[in-house]
Order: sequence, then C-alpha cells, then structure tokens
Amino acid sequence: MLAATYIGPMASRAADLLTLTPQGLYCPAGGFHVDPVRPVERALITHGHSDHARFGHRHVMATRETLAIMAIRYGADFAGTTQEAVPGEVVRIGGASVCFVPAGHVLGSAQILIEQGACRGQGACRLVVSGDYKRGRDPTCLPFEPVRCDVFITEATFGLPVFRHPDARDEVAKLLESVALFPDRTHLVGAYALGKAQRVMALLREAGYGEPIRLHGAMERLTEFYKAEGIALGETPKVAADRAVKGIVICPPSAIQDLWARRFADPVTAFASGWMRVRARARQKGVELPLVISDHCDWDDLCRTIAETQAEEVWVTHGQEDALVHWCRSRGIRARPLNLLGYGDEEADAAGEGG
Ligand SMILES: [Zn+2]
Ligand SMILES: [Zn+2]
Repeated sequence: MLAATYIGPMASRAADLLTLTPQGLYCPAGGFHVDPVRPVERALITHGHSDHARFGHRHVMATRETLAIMAIRYGADFAGTTQEAVPGEVVRIGGASVCFVPAGHVLGSAQILIEQGACRGQGACRLVVSGDYKRGRDPTCLPFEPVRCDVFITEATFGLPVFRHPDARDEVAKLLESVALFPDRTHLVGAYALGKAQRVMALLREAGYGEPIRLHGAMERLTEFYKAEGIALGETPKVAADRAVKGIVICPPSAIQDLWARRFADPVTAFASGWMRVRARARQKGVELPLVISDHCDWDDLCRTIAETQAEEVWVTHGQEDALVHWCRSRGIRARPLNLLGYGDEEADAAGEGG
C-alpha cells in the first residue's frame, strides 16, 4: 500500500525502510514488525495497550516496563523470548538501528526511532514510529521527547481542531469539588485500566486528596505494578461494592453502566477520557461528571510535535487522519494517511464504543 504512491525520493527511501504488511508495519532491513496485530517472528512493541502489545510473538523487544505489563496481562509465556530496550540506547538489528525514546503515553511507553545508513547512493533515513503519545504532564511516566527525523508516523486519535484538552489538574479539581459537595455519594470514576486509572490517582494525590482511593478488581494488578515502580498512589484498597462506600472508586468505564454500579447508593458517575470533550457522548453514556483527561495529544500538541520533529514527511494513522494530513500539506510537509488495521482507541473502546 505504501509503495503504491510514489511521492518523491525520501518517500521511496522511507517506504523501503518500513513497509505495510497484513501483520502491521515491517522493517525489511531489520526483519522486525512494530506493534504487529498478528503473531510474528520478531516484534518491537511501543507500549502495553492490548491493541499494540499482543500475545504470541516469537521474539519481543520492548522497554522493561512494557515487558512487565505484557507478562501481567498475558502471563509469563506471552512471547518466546524477550529483550529489554533501554530508552536512549541505540541497538543494531540486522541492517537497521533502533532506539526507544519515551512517548509520555503510559508507563513504559516509547516511540521507536528506526535508522538505516546511507547505501546505494541514497542518504541515511531516520523514521520515528511514535505509537501513542501525549505532551500533557503525567506524573506516572517519562515525558515525550521530540526526536528529529525525516519521517514521523503519528497517531491522530484527536486529530481535529475542535479537540483541545484542558489541564488535567483542573479536571481533577472538578472531581474533588463534587466529592466535597456530595460527601455521602460514591464517586464512580471510569478510567482505562492501564495508564489513565493510575494517572487520575496520581493527580488526586498531587491535589492533596489523602483518603483511600478504592479500586474495582480490574484495576488492581496494574496499579500494584505502578506502585512497585515507585509511583506514589497512596492507599488503594479493593472496593467492596456496597451502599456504605463513600469517596472515590476507580473502575473500568464499562462498569459504570453495569449492575455492579447499582450496588452503590446514588453514585455520581464520572468518566476520564478525551472524548468527554464531546458533551453528547457524555450524556449518551449516562456520565454525570465528564472529566476531559486524555493520554493522547490534542490538535495543538499534534501540530506542535510534528513541527518539532522537523520531519519532511508525516504518515498519519489511527484516528482523524484527513485534517492532520491537510495541515501538514498546507505547510509544505509531505503527508499521507496510513490505513493501519487492527488498532483501537482505548479511550473510546473502554466505553464499549469500538473502533
Ligand atoms: Zn495506547
Ligand atoms: Zn493506539
């Protein structure tokens, strides 16, 4: 698919370095796939979300944290062999060099810089697969580092100018105001189990909330892992669903609409997601307190990041590709949508919306 449209010398060079296969993006020089959606021989994984990190590859290279998250989710035998990628360290794989660089998305998340030296009369090419990333502050993971490159592959989950994420601290302040206003009501906060849940807890602690934050069972193991990694989340007991529970309970977004939620007395339902910017979506989900907290970039941060990479070419994938492709072209940056199949959007998926 990528090779089908010839749009210049760098484009063809980049398309040699990374091609699209039914398993996902593939680097022929290194013999590896990035975030493959089907089992492959050698996989490099950007982060632990289940659409990017799948079970059953022969060999997996990822950061130590991502390898641990995969083991928590799939069991210790999630891959034949594993190799830890140290952020910032350049590793040679076949005819390519790779380097994992923090992506600021969730604990352990990384962009992958793939580089191939000059050969056959063509210059070196530096390509970055950013996976999922954000620029907003997150006390639970290393911040995104922009990498200068020739080709930047970006997600576009919130790739429309209407998406502007507020400061997450202000959203958490809204939650705490509600808790103060309704001390007798349980505040059920829907949040994706990997990353978002722990970010909300860390922000609550930073805001001075000292009460126990109760967890739905689905949050427990990953939260324990974050704590073991030294992230201060305070006391987080498993919730016993009953009418006497007060304060804040973090649960998977789908649980808000479950029978499970009805065991609490008159709960306030909240949902932490970038999609909560769309009020109709919050209403449709029966969310009383929408919290616009996203682990993806908003429009301004997508544009800013593309500019910072100084990439001459941008491939835009999962999300709203068209507006970002247009934005790039209007600034003289070559750009194309990349139709990668099999990747979801955890901020929407978690609410059972699919796609
Ligand atoms: Zn993700
Ligand atoms: Zn993704």
